[in-house]
Amino acid sequence: FAAYMDEERQSAGLIVVLQDMTEQKQLEEMQKEFVANVSHELRTPITTIKSYVETLLDGEAQDPEILSNFLGVINNESDRMAGLITELLELSRIDSRQVKLKIESVNLAQLVEDSVLRHQIHAEKKSQTLLYETPDVECWIQGDPSRMEQVFRNLIINAVKYSPPEATIRVGIRVDESKRQARVYVRDNGIGIEPKERDRIFERFYRVDKARSRSMGGTGLGLSIAKEIMELHGGSIQVDSIYGKGSTFWLTFPFESRREDMEEK
Ligand code: ADP
Repeated sequence: FAAYMDEERQSAGLIVVLQDMTEQKQLEEMQKEFVANVSHELRTPITTIKSYVETLLDGEAQDPEILSNFLGVINNESDRMAGLITELLELSRIDSRQVKLKIESVNLAQLVEDSVLRHQIHAEKKSQTLLYETPDVECWIQGDPSRMEQVFRNLIINAVKYSPPEATIRVGIRVDESKRQARVYVRDNGIGIEPKERDRIFERFYRVDKARSRSMGGTGLGLSIAKEIMELHGGSIQVDSIYGKGSTFWLTFPFESRREDMEEK
């Protein structure tokens, strides 16, 4: 029996080692893929900028219309690269745990409403309606307001991007007292997301439709940053969607107390 136990242990040990190696290998693969993605995403705008500059240097700069047109493209592509680099640095700071939240008591309804107001302009540009649905209860969260805003902004801008003109986007809050959770939702009636894509969209650089996302200025990093920020808050991000009909993104925050509870203290 002892010998059998020994054998058992040995083989159990072997399994653990193999698992470790598989994880290590997976990590290496992911890192390689990430570097390949970064290089590709940075090279694309540079290639565009270079070809436009070369055409201008070849003499097209004489035509004022072409000149202004091309400079516009070069400007957009440069903004795109700068944005991408900012997001990459942000992810790298999160990975190396350099991002520290400035935690305070936040009035969630107020913050969400401010965020909705601030982004009205994006919806208006596409003749969309961006609505804030006022909750019945006030709710206080321990969080970093500027980081939370960053997440709301990301979801609202995505809803605008991935919905047609005239669409309606609804933003609001649900409080679940029993679970002591507050959930912020951003609901659109846009293109929706297929079930097989629903987990993948939170991965770095993952985009359902690269060409569409790129033409809308997307980098594929926004949701992965949002996920990291939610996790730093002890919360999470999920999506419900009906393909072709629309999506609802949910942000779950651990919930401190309602205003009334605070006043009783
Ligand atoms: P991107 O910069 O491409 O918008 P994100 O990380 O914000 O990157 O989103 C990843 C992908 O998830 C998008 O490219 C898009 O395919 C999909 N997606 C995000 N939000 C929505 C939405 N509201 N409706 C449909 N698809 C969405």
